[in-house]
Amino acid sequence: PARLISPEKRGEDLDVTLRPQSLDEFTGQAEARANLKIFIEAAKNRGEALDHVLFVGPPGLGKTTLAQIMAKELGVNFRSTSGPVIAKAGDLAALLTNLEERDVLFIDEIHRLNPAVEEILYPAMEDFQLDLIIGEGPAARSVKIDLSKFTLVAATTRLGLLTTPLRDRFGIPVRLSFYTVEELELIVRRGARLMNLPMTDEGAREIARRARGTPRIAGRLLRRVRDFAEVARAEAVTREIADEALTRLLVDNVGLDQLDKRYLNMIAVNFGGGPVGIETIAAGLSEPRDAIEDIIEPYMIQQGFIQRTPRGRVLTAIAWKHLGMQPPKDMEA
Ligand code: ADP
Repeated sequence: PARLISPEKRGEDLDVTLRPQSLDEFTGQAEARANLKIFIEAAKNRGEALDHVLFVGPPGLGKTTLAQIMAKELGVNFRSTSGPVIAKAGDLAALLTNLEERDVLFIDEIHRLNPAVEEILYPAMEDFQLDLIIGEGPAARSVKIDLSKFTLVAATTRLGLLTTPLRDRFGIPVRLSFYTVEELELIVRRGARLMNLPMTDEGAREIARRARGTPRIAGRLLRRVRDFAEVARAEAVTREIADEALTRLLVDNVGLDQLDKRYLNMIAVNFGGGPVGIETIAAGLSEPRDAIEDIIEPYMIQQGFIQRTPRGRVLTAIAWKHLGMQPPKDMEA
């Protein structure tokens, strides 16, 4: 079954209603927002395309949302695609030649771009030119096509997987971090308001606490809690209602679900708390390594449950305590 608290995209996301439409409506990421505001303003005043922007951060933190907002605030078209979808150089060429002056092209998961496609992206980003090879063998020739001056907004969950030349071509790198419980509480309250769902502040806080620092998960928990409240004919979502709903859905009081628990338990029970390598963990859980590094671990590290060392993952005292287990004797608290 799909994980309730997975931060990955799913069709059911009620993006249309809950998605903030402007930088002012966007909660959290104060520093990123303040910087973007200045760069957008400056580009608009000069009548120029904004420099290329790279958003880096775990899934569900608002990278796509911010890209859309930027296009809106710049008053230009928004075109969207993703790294794995662009199979051939020609696919990217088609996208790029259709852009108008100053448009925003959003490429999600840019770290999954195929190298042949990446090659033609370089001159496009730098000189707004396409260098295409037409034909094959001795008859092949190269043609240059001028492009509109556009802004590439790219998103990645894994900066480390980007090649250096690609990384260097973004003038504006923006790192997004997990949201605080207070920020998520504001997001949950706004969502409840938009859904006409009565909710107490404590109810909102309970959902926020269990949303793993991630707005997408907050939205998803909010929808499940609403279902529960409606069936229970509750007049409002109180702390008790939220707690009961989320406990039933097997999301614990810090937002960990069964898979997270299996992850922590395996390091604790099978490997005495580590250090244990990521490949070993992935094999033990029968989960792809990428998913573990992208989705499970960032929150574990942020919460201080695990540490990444050169020899592998190590459980911290906080994790042992959360599991209700005794740490090994030689471990310092
Ligand atoms: P990403 O591209 O980083 O995976 P998205 O931009 O798709 O994340 O956002 C995921 C969901 O969370 C969307 O439904 C979006 O509306 C919501 N969301 C993201 N950031 C915020 C925010 N700051 N305030 C309110 N909702 C947000």
